[in-house]
Amino acid sequence: MSHPTKYIFVTGGVVSSLGKGLAAASLGTLLEHRGLDVVIQKFDPYLNVDPGTMSPYQHGEVYVLADGAETDLDLGHYERFTQCECSKLNNLTSGQVFESVIKKERRGDYLGKTVQFIPHCTDEIKERIKEVTERTKGDVIITEIGGTTGDIEGHLFLEALRQFSLEVGRDNVCFIHVTLLPYIAAAGEIKTKPTQQSVAKLREIGVQPDIIVCRTEHDLDEDNRAKIAMFCNVEAKNVVAFRDVAHTIYECPLDLRRDKLDRLVSDRLGLESETPDLEQWRHFVDRVINPTFELTIAVVGKYTELQDAYKSIYESLVHAGAAHDARINVKRIDASQLAEEGPATLLRDIDGILIPGGFGDRGIEGKITAAKFARENNIPYFGICLGMQIATIEFARHVCELKKANSTEFDQATQHPVISLQAEQEGLEDMGATMRLGASDSTVLPGTKAHELYGSEVITERHRHRYEFNPNYREQMEAAGLTISSVSATTGLVEIVEISDHPFYIGAQFHPEFQSRPNHPHPLFSGFVKASLKQG
Ligand code: GLN
Repeated sequence: MSHPTKYIFVTGGVVSSLGKGLAAASLGTLLEHRGLDVVIQKFDPYLNVDPGTMSPYQHGEVYVLADGAETDLDLGHYERFTQCECSKLNNLTSGQVFESVIKKERRGDYLGKTVQFIPHCTDEIKERIKEVTERTKGDVIITEIGGTTGDIEGHLFLEALRQFSLEVGRDNVCFIHVTLLPYIAAAGEIKTKPTQQSVAKLREIGVQPDIIVCRTEHDLDEDNRAKIAMFCNVEAKNVVAFRDVAHTIYECPLDLRRDKLDRLVSDRLGLESETPDLEQWRHFVDRVINPTFELTIAVVGKYTELQDAYKSIYESLVHAGAAHDARINVKRIDASQLAEEGPATLLRDIDGILIPGGFGDRGIEGKITAAKFARENNIPYFGICLGMQIATIEFARHVCELKKANSTEFDQATQHPVISLQAEQEGLEDMGATMRLGASDSTVLPGTKAHELYGSEVITERHRHRYEFNPNYREQMEAAGLTISSVSATTGLVEIVEISDHPFYIGAQFHPEFQSRPNHPHPLFSGFVKASLKQG
């Protein structure tokens, strides 16, 4: 098979949490700035079919794509660092591979053969790469392989890639191995042995990396570079340092450019490409690092101790902050603690309050307290998905005086189900099957804050929720001063609620955080940050 598309496979070694996803995304940024059409995808060796049902404790945020696929948060990096719009094809898990093979086996597709890891599962993996190639026709497809080389579960994927590289021709494939160079403080030295051993593991499977990307806290000197090159069987110039960045992940492409990773890849694959003009990217990074203003946003949630649970929201705040020349200090507040201690101390000196999405009733009352505090004290409030439902419940309870108002998610027998499941969804129990997922169009009403921010009457936003604003309460809520500023273009379901005579009080039933990009902040985040700045 000969094909104009070139393939980059990014594996990781030594330890997990190396920033492999960021390395893949940053390489995407650089190649795109060289004028290439880049597609990025992730292969995850775990057995879950997708991360949709995984706890944030296990897996951080679930990133939702336009087509509704619930994917690994690395796809968020890919979409933020490149123009690539991912689809469900861009995240393959072992769960999907096995599910498909077993379905085929049951259907008799294998014509009585013994069904095996090789070739049947590896074929499945290779098929996916071919399908993405067909669908996207990108110049380059970057595939990140989750997990650490040497893990049993990753073996199948590496074997598939080895076979694939033979099929498409080794010159069309670049293997990049990302490793860690630990620094032993007592010896004052960087250690290369784990890298050597992890590359040896890869070579055991028949994969010879072309480029080694070394995560390191310290500079990589020429001696160590030469040593890694010799033991890992690559040229010294193909040993690239990937240093800890000081301020923001958006520095990563700039760091990888120092050792010209993009040039090396481009040369290795025989791609015709230009020297990247990173001026705009640099400018964005500068604004993130050296802003004039500063403000504090409280994020009131239930996974506030986790770095990754609200990843896209934190990134969206960075984008909006840069656009307004402001550093945003995020104060993560545990909603249960807020319920216990009250808002007075925890929400003191806060410029804006954001309530992210979530499932289940833990912390709900604390979030309602935060929404009430924001509404009554004219503090900018931005509710996302569950945060919009919270704003609705709070308004119903304290403005419409429906004291027992709630969502049926938290109280099935509530007297006033202002948030509830759509009737046709009632009775379905299959977790994951009843969710409203992915992008859909909504109409925005002129004369509202939302319309002012979007500057458009039709918007497309991504969803991930089961419960909805209950239309039976719409009239009563509107009469009391809650503005419904956007509804679904097809179903009329409520998409945005706002309070007009408040500096900024907006709840969105969808997830705007999945569409914010560096240099293109989401209008709702931008409006929220702007209003919060005025508080300071
Ligand atoms: N739990 C709520 C629902 O299912 C909100 C979901 C969310 O915030 N993503 O509707």
